[in-house]
Formats: sequence, C-alpha cells, structure tokens
Amino acid sequence: MKDVEPLNIDRVKSAYTDRWKKGTPGRALVKQSDEKPGQYAVRRDGSNEWHECLIVSHNERLWGTCDCIGHTNHEGACSHLIAVYRLETLRGNGFVPVQPHGITVEVRSKTQETADQIELTGQEGEEA
Ligand SMILES: [Zn+2]
Repeated sequence: MKDVEPLNIDRVKSAYTDRWKKGTPGRALVKQSDEKPGQYAVRRDGSNEWHECLIVSHNERLWGTCDCIGHTNHEGACSHLIAVYRLETLRGNGFVPVQPHGITVEVRSKTQETADQIELTGQEGEEA
C-alpha cells in the first residue's frame, strides 16, 4: 500500500470530475472498521473488489491512503477515498485524528514523520 500522505480532495473535485462522481454517496459501499479508527473497506458499484482505505486528520489536513492501483498512480486521491470523504462529510462526521503513540521514528522530514505515525497506527489491516 502506498505511504500515507496528505490528500488533495479539492484538486480531485476541481480537476478530476469523473473520479469525484465515482465517489458520489450511494455509488459505493463503505464499511467503517470498528477496531481501527479511520480505516474503511470500500467497494464501488459495478466492481466486486473491496479496497482498504485509511483517512485520518492531522494538522488540520486529511491524510490517507488506499490499496488500489488508482491511488498509487493518480494525483490527489482515488475514487475510494473520495467515496469515504463524501459519505462522511454528508453524514456530518469528522475524521479521527492521528493517534499518538510511543514509538520513535527516524525523522527524515516533517511529512515523512507524520506518514510514519499514521502508518504505525493504521497497519495490520485485514481485508474486510
Ligand atoms: Zn482506492
């Protein structure tokens, strides 16, 4: 899975309208993990593949990743992450903050440090 990184939701909304529409609430099944805050399983209509998404908030930004190819290759966020974002926003829900933890990571950059923290709290994901 791609490293957790800041999600550019607005960029998808303005520049990749097809992807934005694929994430329309009602066009995907979104299951929230009970055990792992911020983790979701998402299946778009017309697909039989579930994808594992993680979205958390940190420093007033959304961070996340998805295990699909699209998220690795496309700018902004994939349609699965957009589906989670749009559904939770429609419901008026916020996104969970990064959980603090006691593990020290090598500091390469501020961005990488945050990505490591998110990764550590979001790993061990099982397919729903
Ligand atoms: Zn995806």
